Amino acid sequence: MHPGVAELVSFRATERAALVAGNGARSRMMNEIEGTAPSSPLTGERNGSRRPWVLAETSWATVRETNYELAVLPWGATEAHNFHLPYATDNVESESVAVRAAGQAWERGARVAVLPTVPFGVNTTQLDIPLTLSVTPSTQLALLRDLASSLAGQGIRKLLILNGHGGNNFRQMIRELYPELPVFICSVNWYDCVDPRPFFDQPGDHAGELETSVMLELAPALVEPLSTAGDGSVKQWRIGGLREGWAWAPRQWTRVTSDTGIGNPAAATAAKGAAFLEAVSSRLADLLVELAAADLDDMYV
Ligand SMILES: [Zn+2]
Repeated sequence: MHPGVAELVSFRATERAALVAGNGARSRMMNEIEGTAPSSPLTGERNGSRRPWVLAETSWATVRETNYELAVLPWGATEAHNFHLPYATDNVESESVAVRAAGQAWERGARVAVLPTVPFGVNTTQLDIPLTLSVTPSTQLALLRDLASSLAGQGIRKLLILNGHGGNNFRQMIRELYPELPVFICSVNWYDCVDPRPFFDQPGDHAGELETSVMLELAPALVEPLSTAGDGSVKQWRIGGLREGWAWAPRQWTRVTSDTGIGNPAAATAAKGAAFLEAVSSRLADLLVELAAADLDDMYV
């Protein structure tokens, strides 16, 4: 069991709500009513009832009565995010987006189950940063194969991986599993669902304005004051093709950034994060509704 980020976020958010004057508590309450609680989904109850689209909150009594059509697997990483964001940032983000979108899809009749978040990603170029926990792509493939096989045996034939970490890439794994399993697997990077440029001055790649804004909205108690953050400035490749982006190699993280961030978080606000999350969740919910209803024998027009 992984000791949740979830409970930690929840505890801190509750604690903060108690400490901060009425506004904080009211906004948290409103978020919970709207099903967009800033805390992670594993908080158990919402208005006295569990959310049947969040597997971690759901019992067998519900599962045996529900014809789940689609599983959503949030997949993050455990890594440094500048000085101001927590190591679980990618997990909080991917899980929260999955739960919001699945909740909207559920209300529209789609029977979607958000699976527990996988908190370990590919961080092979950041292993010199203490407490970075990296898994190799081959380990990810083994885990994905086992999870998808579990679902296949139960007749759940659609799986969407909601990725939250730039070092993860599931495409080749999905190709490898394609002839092995009778499960339709697709992947989405949650931060690619919607063009971020209209929402942010400079979105940034890692712990920048986008991610910081989103975390200020989802888990403000886990965000250190922005005055403590580095500016996320990044060195460029000396080699032209790599610098221009048409040649590719992974970057040695501590050689390109001094604060582990890539992108300046200075202009981040919770309001920007809320607007972006709303657009992302809504677009993703549309995809979940379509996927849940799709006939796997009739996927092309
Ligand atoms: Zn991140």
